[in-house]
Amino acid sequence: MSRVYNFSAGPAVLPEEVLKEAAAEMLDYKGCGMSVMEMSHRSSVFQEIIETAEADIRDLMQIPDNYKVLFLQGGASQQFAMIPMNLMKNKVADYIVTGQWAKKAAKEAEKYGEVHVVASSEDKTFSYIPDCSDLEISEDADYVYICENNTIYGTKFKELPDTKGKTLVADVSSCFLSEPVDVSKYGVIYGGVQKNVGPAGVVIAIIREDLITDDVLDGTPTMLKYKTHADAGSLYNTPPAYGIYICGKVFKWLKKQGGLEAIKERNEKKAKILYDYLDESKLFKGTVVPKDRSLMNVPFITGNKELDVKFVKEAKEAGFENLKGHRSVGGMRASIYNAMPVEGVEKLVEFMKAFEKENL
Ligand SMILES: *Cc1c(COP(=O)(O)O)cnc(C)c1O
Repeated sequence: MSRVYNFSAGPAVLPEEVLKEAAAEMLDYKGCGMSVMEMSHRSSVFQEIIETAEADIRDLMQIPDNYKVLFLQGGASQQFAMIPMNLMKNKVADYIVTGQWAKKAAKEAEKYGEVHVVASSEDKTFSYIPDCSDLEISEDADYVYICENNTIYGTKFKELPDTKGKTLVADVSSCFLSEPVDVSKYGVIYGGVQKNVGPAGVVIAIIREDLITDDVLDGTPTMLKYKTHADAGSLYNTPPAYGIYICGKVFKWLKKQGGLEAIKERNEKKAKILYDYLDESKLFKGTVVPKDRSLMNVPFITGNKELDVKFVKEAKEAGFENLKGHRSVGGMRASIYNAMPVEGVEKLVEFMKAFEKENL
């Protein structure tokens, strides 16, 4: 067996330790004689899995008691609708558009109310984060929406926008658990777990309790009401049980690494190796304004499309997978999530240096 260095943006690399543990428990989970895939979500065994997972993410993120943690389905994209359906009491919301995901979220919200784009970086292909220190926040806005880390373009909010007291809603799909956060600054933090936390099929939404009400838009399906899931402890219907189990293992792994402070340090170290090289290289260059660079997704180009294709092909042959940039931007992108070892980034840079020598 040989594992590659997987730089996929998502679904993405998971800690090898977690995969090995899951493999060892595949046929017989802790003496139950069955796999977690095969057991009732109402069993006491699964109850313990989901409760432990919740306790561990609460501990890792220091989630205050007045927030609920929901394990949902439908991908991050389903939240694009659930957020307005549950939060748009005045039917007005402000969106900061820093990439395709925020743009899609804004477009979906337009189905339910008035959407104001209060800042955007579309003028420069989303290669920066706009100044959000003094925005014209709508007086009756129900919330202000951001995509905190832009998976496709490789930008990250280093400071949260000043929402002038309005509820902040953040899609953190691609920076989930990559560094400590102050949960109390947000009304809703949510993400699909397949980028940095677990397998596809689970969405974690951390929501301040006062935002979880029966006062939702007319016609909101039962399954799309946060309150349905909050009241049932994420067990209103069959949850994505196996995915939650893997997320729980990743939470334990993160705690073993020293928690989010330690993982942030490691993520900074990894990103620095790659960005430092991109800054000195005569062949490759990063596409993002340095101050807004993501620690998770690193897009880069050679400036020559044929050379980009050659690089991706030769990298793949050398065991570096999924380096092709998103179809909307081209070039390359290395996603270096929590589970990517430092060694993977070091080896990639070595490979890039050799490629530069040969092709410059
Ligand atoms: C991948 C991604 C999404 C979409 O996730 P799905 O689970 O496929 O719906 C949304 N937002 C961000 C930031 C992402 O990276």
